[in-house]
Amino acid sequence: MDCIFCKIVNGDIPSYTIYENDYVRCFLDVNPVENGHTLIVPKKHFVDVNDITDEYLLEVDKASKIVVKLLDEKLKPNGFRLVQNNGNLQEVKHYHLHVIPSFIKKQTKKKPEKVFELLTK
Ligand code: 5GP
Ligand code: ZN
Repeated sequence: MDCIFCKIVNGDIPSYTIYENDYVRCFLDVNPVENGHTLIVPKKHFVDVNDITDEYLLEVDKASKIVVKLLDEKLKPNGFRLVQNNGNLQEVKHYHLHVIPSFIKKQTKKKPEKVFELLTK
C-alpha cells in the first residue's frame, strides 16, 4: 500500500521519533504548527476514527500522555491541543493524533532536527 505513514512506521522513510512502543510511533510533524508538534501514529494501518480498533485507540491515547509529559518537561509550553482529523480535514489517510503544544509567548520556529535534539538530550 502506498501510505506515507506506513513507510515511516516501518522505518522505510526516516522520522524524528521521540517515543515508540509495539503499538505506536510518535514523531515530529514535518510542517509543525508549533515547536514540538508531534504525530502519534498506530503501527497498523487504520484510515480514520471509524476504522481504528478500540485496542489501538487506547494505545494512541496512552501514548499521548507520555508524549505530553515529554514535551512539557523539555519545552515548557503553557498548554496542549490534541487534534485528530477525519474526512475532508484529513490529509494523510492513516489514523493519527496531533499533539500540539501552545505557548503564550510567541516562539520562533525551530527546525525539527533542533527540536528533536532538545527532546532527546
Ligand atoms: P492531517 O491533516 O492528515 O491531520 O495531518 C497530516 C500531518 O502530517 C500534517 O501536519 C503534515 O505536516 C504531516 N506530514 C505529512 N507528510 C509527512 C511526512 O512525510 N513526515 C512527517 N513527519 N509529517 C508529515
Ligand atoms: Zn498506512
